[in-house]
Amino acid sequence: MTSPTFTPSPQPLPFELRPSSIQGTGAFATRRIPKGKRIIEYIGERITQEEADVRYDDEAMGRHHTFLFNLDDKTVLDAGTLHNESRYINHSCDPNCEALVDEGHIYIFARKAIAVGEELVYDYAYERTPDMGPESESLYVCKCGAANCRGTILAPEKKAPARKKKASAKKKSGVKKSGAKVAKKTQGKKAASGSRAAKKGGGRKKSPAGGRKRPAR
Ligand SMILES: [Zn+2]
Repeated sequence: MTSPTFTPSPQPLPFELRPSSIQGTGAFATRRIPKGKRIIEYIGERITQEEADVRYDDEAMGRHHTFLFNLDDKTVLDAGTLHNESRYINHSCDPNCEALVDEGHIYIFARKAIAVGEELVYDYAYERTPDMGPESESLYVCKCGAANCRGTILAPEKKAPARKKKASAKKKSGVKKSGAKVAKKTQGKKAASGSRAAKKGGGRKKSPAGGRKRPAR
């Protein structure tokens, strides 16, 4: 938080940052957050996918933790170079938040009511690529502690192909087409999936964010 790239959110936030048992610093609710509430925008420097690959090379860095977030097929948000409190929201396989894209911005929403003191978490669902084998699972191991932890921060395996189509599909006919990932992300608010924007966004159009971008090859 003391990083020079830190730009605090201008709005008062319903959470505070403090050490987390999941990882490093986490975000913890300081007041009850109702289901569907928009909590914070995920801020990052807007760069191309190519630039992200140049900036973050796993093998060169010897680490696998970055703050990239896919906005769409072309654009990645790099919260390594510009960020706010949203960067500290940890991953969990049993998330109480979710990331949704709304007109070119990624926001973190409450996917269920969150009690005071509860850690805010969402499913990073790191992008999988075809070259990933079993060893990749261990590189992106998840220790979120959820009962349903899938053991990896990577997106569930069968959902990878769907992701590729997501960006083009979502523009035209909404979130339903974007495949398995969407189906997963919208779990728990099925009722909203047919008229998602109307129900949750007051007419604004939102779609699930593309998930974190995995660090470059
Ligand atoms: Zn997990």
